[in-house]
Amino acid sequence: MVTSGTENNLIANTTNSATYLSNTVKGRTSWNIKTTTLAKKTINRIRGIVESLKISPNPEKPMIPLTIGDPTTFGNLKASSETMKAVLEAVESGKYNGYAHSQGHEAARRAIAKYSAHQSSEEIKTENIFITSGCSSALEYCILALAERGQNVLLPRPGFCLYQTLVEGLNIEVRYYDLLPEKQWQADLQQLESMIDDNTAALLINNPSNPCGSVFSKEHLENILNICEKYYLPIIADEIYEHFVFPGSQHIAVSSLSRNVPVLSCGGLTKRFLVPGWRTGWIIVHDRGNRLVEVTAGLRNMCCRILGSNTLVQGAIPAILENTPQVYFDEVIDILHENAKLTYNMLKQIRGLNPIMPNGAMYMMVGVNIDKFPEFKDDLHFVQEMVNEQSVFCLPGSCFEYPNYMRIVLTVPREMLEEACSRITQFCEAHYKVDNSIIESNLLNETY
Ligand SMILES: *Cc1c(COP(=O)(O)O)cnc(C)c1O
Repeated sequence: MVTSGTENNLIANTTNSATYLSNTVKGRTSWNIKTTTLAKKTINRIRGIVESLKISPNPEKPMIPLTIGDPTTFGNLKASSETMKAVLEAVESGKYNGYAHSQGHEAARRAIAKYSAHQSSEEIKTENIFITSGCSSALEYCILALAERGQNVLLPRPGFCLYQTLVEGLNIEVRYYDLLPEKQWQADLQQLESMIDDNTAALLINNPSNPCGSVFSKEHLENILNICEKYYLPIIADEIYEHFVFPGSQHIAVSSLSRNVPVLSCGGLTKRFLVPGWRTGWIIVHDRGNRLVEVTAGLRNMCCRILGSNTLVQGAIPAILENTPQVYFDEVIDILHENAKLTYNMLKQIRGLNPIMPNGAMYMMVGVNIDKFPEFKDDLHFVQEMVNEQSVFCLPGSCFEYPNYMRIVLTVPREMLEEACSRITQFCEAHYKVDNSIIESNLLNETY
């Protein structure tokens, strides 16, 4: 009979569980529920750092948070009407209430392939596109599919802290390669190359960069590709700020230059379409010579963990990508570029600060010459006291593994940014010290 095998199994299983029971219940005498290493080690640095600051904003000055990475917070930057309409239509059609393919709706993936055609000289196939819950989950899948315990990945410093959050919980070693402020935040390639060993699973690049706002040149990308080719190293490219560059700069997708190095490009609607809450991102696998066959299958498996992202937005993706007019993007870029110029021009006049003009994205890094502010121990202390005196809050560089800098978000309304910069000026003028002898006595009195 067909069932006999199954029945035998059942009997065997029953016997097994009986054995387990008698052997393992002895220690279960009280509640002792533990969480996992992964859960324990999944830590967002920014939260920890911000919570460690002793912040009480000056009640006489309204708070200006230049920390908030969500560009929709202040209401000055809005999703396009085409974007909103596309979702309304997806809802009204009633066609997107069910599960989609776990990699995403075919039509949405076709639209992403077309929208991303510039990323490759080869045709992008829909089977190589994975729609994910935000770019964050795209990055997570790439890391999970490429690296595991005992291996290492190379991450940029300064860099988006999510990378570390995703990697460390998995007991994967993080190796930071430096971005060089004096070279427009290009990667220190010599150092990067020296970090590669047999256990290096991937190089992660973020272009344009959060927090630097920098954009890699073609030549620099080619140099990176040459190193990866030499060591057979795949690239995870966080390109969530693709196209998000100021006039005069150009964003080049690293995959478009790659002949032999496989690239996993992570992108999404979040930043360019100004809908972070919609949690819509994607991975585009740019294989070169079938080197990622196994990894692509691994990504397919990953997608089965949560059965894909929100289908309503997936239903809207084709219309969003096709109908949003260029003028919409140009206006957003224009606002950010104007904000960047204003901030740069005001901050570069301040003694002790060294702003670095970005070429894209939504951020500016500002060097803080902490020796010139002897009352403050470090960048954390500096930003803390700036909130307490001036109610202007910037994220300290330490959040990005890069002390003695602070990051300014450029998406706040222009008037607020201008007010913030003038308060930063006041703050710096009040605390800047030329003479070192004053420093010593102050240091002794400081108890921070
Ligand atoms: C905002 C951001 C993301 C995350 O995007 P989500 O789509 O909101 O998950 C990823 N990488 C960088 C560099 C970002 O700034």
